[in-house]
This record gives sequence, structure tokens and C-alpha cells, in this order.
Amino acid sequence: MNIIKILHPQEAQKIAAGEIIERPAHIVKELIENSIDAGATQISCYIEGAGKKLIRIVDNGCGMAEDDARLCFARHATSKISCLDDLASLISFGFRGEALASIAAVSNVLMSTKRADRELGYRLSYKAGALHSQEEIACQQGTDLSVADLFENMPARKKFLKQDDTEWHQITAAFHAFCLSHLAIHFQLYQDNKLVLNAPAVSSVKDRVGQVWDVNTAHNLMELEQVPRNNLSWCSLTGAISQHHFWRYSKAMFFFFVNNRWVKDLELSKAVMKGYQHVLPPGKFPAVFMSLSVDPAMVDINVHPKKEEVRFAKSTQVSNLIQHMISATLEHAVNKRLTISSVGRTTVACQPHKKDEDFVPSVVLSGPTPLQGRYTEPVPAQHNNVQHHVMQRTAETTVPLLHHAQAPIVQRSDTGKIIGQLFNTYLIIEHENSCVIIDQHAAHERILYEQFKKKFARRDGTILLFPIIVKLIHPGALAQLLTEQAFFLQHGISFEQFGPRELAITSCSPDLASNDLQELIKECADLLQEGENFDTESMRTKLHEHVHSHLACKTAVKAGDQLSSEKMAYLIKSLSETENKNICIHGRPTTWTLEKTEIEKRFRRK
Ligand code: ADP
Ligand code: MG
Repeated sequence: MNIIKILHPQEAQKIAAGEIIERPAHIVKELIENSIDAGATQISCYIEGAGKKLIRIVDNGCGMAEDDARLCFARHATSKISCLDDLASLISFGFRGEALASIAAVSNVLMSTKRADRELGYRLSYKAGALHSQEEIACQQGTDLSVADLFENMPARKKFLKQDDTEWHQITAAFHAFCLSHLAIHFQLYQDNKLVLNAPAVSSVKDRVGQVWDVNTAHNLMELEQVPRNNLSWCSLTGAISQHHFWRYSKAMFFFFVNNRWVKDLELSKAVMKGYQHVLPPGKFPAVFMSLSVDPAMVDINVHPKKEEVRFAKSTQVSNLIQHMISATLEHAVNKRLTISSVGRTTVACQPHKKDEDFVPSVVLSGPTPLQGRYTEPVPAQHNNVQHHVMQRTAETTVPLLHHAQAPIVQRSDTGKIIGQLFNTYLIIEHENSCVIIDQHAAHERILYEQFKKKFARRDGTILLFPIIVKLIHPGALAQLLTEQAFFLQHGISFEQFGPRELAITSCSPDLASNDLQELIKECADLLQEGENFDTESMRTKLHEHVHSHLACKTAVKAGDQLSSEKMAYLIKSLSETENKNICIHGRPTTWTLEKTEIEKRFRRK
């Protein structure tokens, strides 16, 4: 007796359907894709019971003639390709002729459809995959398709549907993606008979974001800057990204489109986060709406049954392009916001032998100022102790702070004058006809970062009395970190293997707190993991950058730290000599200028 049985076609269809249709959002996606392919300019979506009860899509597309209306529910029924070769050049969404057959297999379907050139339309219904009724009716041009009682005939699958909130969330994400990728279409979304989103056609992604979310989010977006050296002839990128001061707590506002198809791709997300590195605080995410236009021969869109992921022939190049365009856009935006053309021109230096007078004017320490009451060294509280220590270390090992501050100061006609410190956070300088305000933490951070980067001097570590144990998550991380030991040693950090996934840090720079150090090692482990595809040189650069920005942030003076006049002078001078001085390592401006004329206007002197 044979034990192999051939499944009944209807059962086989139900199983196959599971591949495409797992949840209501997938139906919404397939139906809207069909409406778009049908040339619709208006698409309304009615959802009841988070799609478990009803999903209805009404479009004004081309509609179907009677024969097609009957055929479209058959497996492999499609008007979009006739042979496999057509796939490569396909620009429409659907192409497998499976969606409607699959949907009809797992729900009850009712469809009315009419072509423009026909008097009457056609209506037919399917119950659990079998044709139930068909008739001619009078209706509008286009297609009106309802999918009710999802998985009613498949209790095992129905059990896997999530809570209404979760399913609704998935539906809205898919719906929003269509709104973003098809600006010329008027979309409407109804939830339990209430209109929750009305989005008429617009001409920019920014406007669409305003419709879908809110005007504030839209205001915080900027168009992606094209990088002059994009030499990828097969891939171009456009879109809008959020400014550095706008963030979200999740990647809910990450939207990627490849040849106008929404994809959820981990590699693309990673590239975005690299572009925002040092710009957003840890655990925060930007809003990103990105459209990649890619030569179809260089991308495989069929790696995923629901076509949600893509594979690029040269994925590293795509990631690099994304990262560069984001960095360029963010940097340009900050530069534009700074009202002064160059900090170097308006800030001050105290070295008398500086030749470039126009560019770096000298400074006069104005002596005790109205703020002199606070003219003291930081209070040796625990936190400040560390800072104090750090400043001295910095003085010894990188820049001789006191030496500069005590150097003779020459007064010049174009001198800038340190007025003092405001709120223990900002340094105020009077220079010519303006008042320059410097954020002491942001400025110092940038100074230290650039110094660390340049010097690469060996930072001596101190042997720890009790080693710090770091537990690593990735199994391969330990081995990778151990191969980079020499690199960490350059920063005074030495460690050895402690357990199968544990490191013992035996020495480190005294200016790194134990928690920070653990976090730093873990972040480096992640970086190494991510960097598997990178060549070692660029990996090292990334690690260096990471370590340096980390050290710079930790060791820089903080907002709230009281600074002596020498330290102020040192900071100001160093900033004027620092590269990338306009922006701190997190993307905030370091300097802001208030013009004398602005002050005069306020007091109506002019
Ligand atoms: P595919 O989209 O892969 O061709 P589907 O099962 O999604 O397969 O649809 C089958 C066919 O039904 C399509 O090729 C199209 O001709 C027709 N069709 C489906 N939805 C619509 C619609 N909203 N308007 C016009 N024609 C449609
Ligand atoms: Mg389709």
C-alpha cells in the first residue's frame, strides 16, 4: 500500500497561499499593487477588525472585462508576463499571477469590476477558493475588491494572526509606504468606517510626510544632497532625511524604495545609521525616506517570497553611497545654519607669532570680568575630579594648556575679548562688531576628537587592581577583538580572554570609567562583526574614529563645568586651529554669532 498521497488542488492552493498571505497587511499590499498596475489615480482602502474581518480596496483603474474577471482568480493568471524572460525587464508590481488565487483560497472574496469601454461591469464572489456567484451589474469604472473573514477556513493559520493593534500597525506601515512611493495617487484609508487618512496627490515626499504624519515631521526633513563623486552609473538615490535634532525611538520612519518598490532591508538601515553616526544619541533613530533607482540587472527583487528584501550585485557600493549622501547632507545643513562664515575669522588666538592676522585675530584676556565671582577651578566633586584630571592629562599629553595660556599676549587693533562664561556652559567673546558664543562641551569635544585622530600617540593605561569583565554576545566577537589587541593597546587598553565569551580588561586609560569601557568594548565588538565585509584598513579607520569620538565625548569639559580664564583661552584658541570646527562630533554647532546690529535693533538704537 502506498503511503504518498497527492493533495487535493484546493488544499495545495491553501498551503501555497501561506507563502504570500500570512497576515492582513500582505493582502492590502497585493491589492494596492494591482490597483497601481491598473493605472489607478485614486485608491481607497477600507479596513474592519484590523483586516481580519474585512479588507476592501476600491480603485479607478482600468478594470477587467468579464473573461478576465473570472480568470484572474486562477493560479498563475496574470496579464503582466508571458514568459520568464519578461521578468528581468518588469516594471509593474505583480508578476506571478498568484496573489488573487491565494487570497481567494483563504477568505471570502467579492469583486466588482468594469472597464471604461463597457456598458456594464461584472461581479463575482468566491467562498473559500470556490466560485460562488457571478453576474453583470452596473458600476463605476475600476475595481472594487473585498476580502472578508480571513483564514476562516484555516483555524490553524488564523491562530497565528496577531493582536488587532499589531495587524493594524502592519497595515498602516504598508499603506504609508504606498503613499510615499506614489505621490501622484490620491489615497484614502478608512478604519472601521472612519476616514483616518486622506492624502490627495502631492508633488514632494515632504508634502506626503506632512499628510501621513504631521507638519512638524515634514518641516524637519531635508532633501538628500547629491554627492559630486557618485560614480555608480547603475544606482542613484533621492529622498528626504531628518535633521540632526529630530529623532525617533525606533526605525518606524525608515522607508526604502528600490525602483519604487518598498523594501525592508537590514543592510540599507545599517548604512543609514552609519551616515548618522556621531550625530544622533545612542538608541535614537532618524526619519528616512529613500528612493533608489537601480539598473534592474544589478538587483534581484525575487530573493523574498513577498518581495520585501532585495539583493544588490554590489551591496557595499550602495551602502557607501547612502552613508556618504547622508553625511554630506547633514554637514551641509549645519554649515548653512551657522551664521558666521568661519569660526576662525571671529574667534581668537593668543599666540603672538600668528601670521595670518585676518584669519586668526588675537585675544585679550580681559582679566576679572563681571563673572569673576566664579573665577575658580572646578569644585572637586567626584564628577569634576575626573574632568579636572582629564584636563591635566590633556595638558600633559596633547596640548600644554597652561603653557599657552601663560604665554605673553599681544594686544592688537582687531583683538577679540573674552567676556566670560555664561551658565557655566557657553563662552562669550566680543569680536569686532559681533558677539561670538561657543558651546564649551561641543567645542572641546571637536578639539579633542581631532587631536586624538591626528596624534595617535600611545595613551598609557593604568593597571587595574580588579580586571573589568566584559561579557560578549556574538560568539565570534571574542576572537575578533583578540586579533585587534595591538590596536587597543595604542589607546592604553589591554585585555585577555577570561571565559568562552568573556574578556578581562587588565589596564585602561584612567579617564575611562568602567561602565563606559564595557560599553565601548561591546560597541567595538559590534563594529567588528558588522565589518566582516570591510577590508582591515577601513575597519581600523572606523574603529579609530569610534574610539576617538568616544574618548572625546567622555573627556571633554561638560556643560555646567566652571572654567578658569586660562581654560577658556585655551579652548577658544584650540578651536580656531581645529579642523571641522563648526560642528561637534554629534552634529551640533559649536559656535553661534550675535551681530552688534541685531543687538542695536533690539534696543531700537538703529
Ligand atoms: P499579478 O498581479 O501577479 O498578475 P494577481 O493575482 O495579483 O497577479 O492578479 C491577476 C491579474 O488580475 C492581474 O495580472 C491583472 O490583469 C488582474 N487584476 C488584478 N487586480 C486588478 C485591478 N485592481 N484592476 C485591474 N486588473 C486587475
Ligand atoms: Mg498582483
